[in-house]
Order: sequence, then structure tokens, then C-alpha cells
Amino acid sequence: MAKQFDIVEEIVTANRILANEGIVDSFGHVSVRHPKRPDRYLLSRARAPERIEASDIVEFTLEGDPIDAKNAKTTHAPYTERFIHGAIYESRPDIHSVVHNHSPSTIPFGITSTKLKPLLHMCASIGHDVPLWDSHDEFGDTALLVNSMAMGRDLAKRPGKGRSALMRGHGAVVAGTSIRHSVFISIYLEVNAKLQMQAMQMGKIKHLTKGEIDAVIARTGPYTLNRAWENWARRAGRPMQAAD
Ligand SMILES: [Zn+2]
Repeated sequence: MAKQFDIVEEIVTANRILANEGIVDSFGHVSVRHPKRPDRYLLSRARAPERIEASDIVEFTLEGDPIDAKNAKTTHAPYTERFIHGAIYESRPDIHSVVHNHSPSTIPFGITSTKLKPLLHMCASIGHDVPLWDSHDEFGDTALLVNSMAMGRDLAKRPGKGRSALMRGHGAVVAGTSIRHSVFISIYLEVNAKLQMQAMQMGKIKHLTKGEIDAVIARTGPYTLNRAWENWARRAGRPMQAAD
């Protein structure tokens, strides 16, 4: 009999993949909405993604309160920026996984007027455009960390109905329908940003058209996500679970 799909193992693999592909370093995180409790999500305790084990995964309310409060005070201190996750789940019932990262090539697009837009078919999943959230607009001078639900909710408005948003001088947030989807978009957000910077050196860029983006998104289903996931999981030294 096939082994049952284990959501905790899947989120561990997601962390390892994002670290191995250079999307997160010692910081950044990925969560999943609880499969049986849509008002909760699963996220690691505060730890570098490359080091995360199944025992690090913690359950939170959408407000960012750990279900096991005692553990949170001792061994399982939460990420300061966990509010990003709950705020997006709260405002987007269609979203089941969220990634927050400081993906290096995306940063220049958050601090200049150049818009990050899909230019490669594999990158269409990042959305028609990638809106920018500037914490300074509402919150003034801060350490730029999303350390409250008020900040999380303000940020959550920015992707709108889309898949991703940049955070000025900080990083990016990605919203997906599954863990594999949010990891896929996060990786191709970085790929697109890097290619766009290279192409800008060469001349005027012809981005994907709106129709092309829609056509690619319409055919990006489990086959594509699973094919990429198998490769990235193996590369990160993790097994691939059967899903979909
Ligand atoms: Zn951050």
C-alpha cells in the first residue's frame, strides 16, 4: 500500500528545496494551511530552512498564536514574521501555501521603478505583474520586519488576487494553491528577476503578453509542478511523496 501523504514531511521538503535552490538563506520561511483546520497553518519554529526537521513544525492560529504556547516559550520560538502567513490565509481562502523570502535578484525591483514582469514561459506563474509593498507607506521607519497582524494584513492586500508581491528593501511574498505551487512560483520569481536584469543590459525587453501569461497559467497543473518537485526534492536529498 502506498504511504499516506504526510503534510509535515512535505513542508520540510519545501524548506530544504528553497534553501538548496538559493531562494532562502538563513532566513525566509514557507507555510501550509492546515489540511483539516482552515483557520490554522503549519510553519517551522524559527530556524534556518536548510536545517528544518519534522519536529520543528508548529501549528498556529491565523492570528499567529502557537497552539502549543508552552513549547513556543521554550524550545520552539516562532518566526517574528509569521504574521505574513496568517494574514494571507485570512484574506485568501483559495491560498493553501505561502512563502516569504529575501530572494536576492528580486530586491532591485523593489527599490527602483523597474517593474518585474514575466519574460520567460516558465515564469508566467508569477502573475501578470508583481505589485510592490512598501512598509514605510503605512508604518514609517521600522526594522522592515512584518512583526504584527496589522503589518501582515497591510501586506496581504498587495498581491490582490495575484500570486506574488515584492517588499521594498526586504524581499518577496508568494501565495500558492499548494506547497508545490508556492515553491514553484518562488523559484521562478528569482529566475525571472535574474533574467530580466541580464536582458536589461542588452536592450528593450519583449515581455510575455497578457494572453501568453494566461495560456501558460492555464496549462500549469500537477504534471508540471510534480515534475519540477521531483527534481528539486532529489537535488535537496529528500524523497518525493506521491500527490495528485
Ligand atoms: Zn523577511
